[in-house]
Amino acid sequence: VTSYLAEHAWLPTGVHRNVRIEVAAGRITAVSPDALDAEACPGDQRLSGLTVPGFANTHSHAFHRALRGRTHEALAGGGGGTFWTWRERMYEVASRLDPDSYLALARAVYAEMALAGITAVGEFHYLHHAPGGARYADPNAMGMALLQAAADAGIRIALLDTCYLTGGLGPAGPLPLAEEQLRFSDGDADRWATRLAGLRNAAAARGADSDGGQARIGAAIHSVRAVPRAALGTVVEAAAGGPLHVHLSEQPAENDQCQAVYGMSPTRLLAESGALGAGTTAVHATHLSGADIAELGGNGTTISMCPTTERDLADGIGPARVLADAGARITLGSDQHAVVDLLEEARALEMDERLASGQRRRFRLVELLGALTGHHGLGWDDAGELRPGARADLVTIALDTVRTAGCAPEQALLAATAADVRTVLVDGTMVVDRGRHHLGDVGALLAEAIAPLWSAEA
Ligand SMILES: [Zn+2]
Repeated sequence: VTSYLAEHAWLPTGVHRNVRIEVAAGRITAVSPDALDAEACPGDQRLSGLTVPGFANTHSHAFHRALRGRTHEALAGGGGGTFWTWRERMYEVASRLDPDSYLALARAVYAEMALAGITAVGEFHYLHHAPGGARYADPNAMGMALLQAAADAGIRIALLDTCYLTGGLGPAGPLPLAEEQLRFSDGDADRWATRLAGLRNAAAARGADSDGGQARIGAAIHSVRAVPRAALGTVVEAAAGGPLHVHLSEQPAENDQCQAVYGMSPTRLLAESGALGAGTTAVHATHLSGADIAELGGNGTTISMCPTTERDLADGIGPARVLADAGARITLGSDQHAVVDLLEEARALEMDERLASGQRRRFRLVELLGALTGHHGLGWDDAGELRPGARADLVTIALDTVRTAGCAPEQALLAATAADVRTVLVDGTMVVDRGRHHLGDVGALLAEAIAPLWSAEA
């Protein structure tokens, strides 16, 4: 048993002082609030600051990290670009990755996440084939690289293998894939499901999907743009028993195309295909009708809001408060990783609501903490709270930095950044100690992984 003495800790009953947290075999075994002081437990490890449960990053595309600082202001050819021109640059980077270079990049990205207090990631994985769509000798070489990357970085991963079959919706129906999209596709949903089954087997041999394991295999529907109506049922069936994620209504164009082809919204199409519900996470959910919101809330779908991405890509502000009031669970994702700072995502969730509504305190602090730590959509119901029996994911935020000095502990959530995360335990293992990741210089790891992807350019 290892004992920690947290100066302040956010328990299910609120923030308490001098909280003793005992950890054994990766689980919290005892939590004793307000009862002890430092003199009473001299053998405990001190956690100075505010200790909270580990953050769940519910939407990630690890390779997008290579685009940071390259695409936000201007794009090749001039102009600020749009979501759709940004996507062209993203395809270029994707075309240069192989299993080895992806392992190096994702390992560094997941280490960056750990430094930010993220203890579990949902990786929305569609880069599963070689350029042109050929299979690797191991058809899941890219997915296995992601599992290895998370293990090396010390965080848990829900690997969401993504079905991606078509290049969008045209007036007459689904469009063929563009050349650069071929490596995202298995050709049809049955072949995707067969490969997913192989991934489950290979990952299970390494401990995935076991009780207490650090990896889960789930599935994703890229979007109604990339999976035709006739294939949705196959994906839903293959996804059963694990998390299912889907990009939903990030752009008005998707809604317009879906309406034109299928005569209904993307939410309705997914609902009638059985793709929504308590095991599903809808990502973005930015442009929804009242009927869509009632549908998502009524069936208990989890939402992954990605505010720093949505603002960068000029997507719009999603109806987070209304969705939450309707019954949907709100979680947070860093998506394209222009920013890897879930505290900033949580702050943006609230601040975007304030700008859109003209009201303050749209989300209470405890709701923001719930969004930061919501693991349900990744398939872990035993994480996200500091209570006996839960996974020992502990994140300590310093309260003595230039950003946080003087803050009341609870309100530090609205002042702290990833740079204030000092200590991170994942399943009881210390991954970040006094601001340092166990892999060492994560900035250098990122630079080494990203530079070769742009070496053909300036
Ligand atoms: Zn995404």
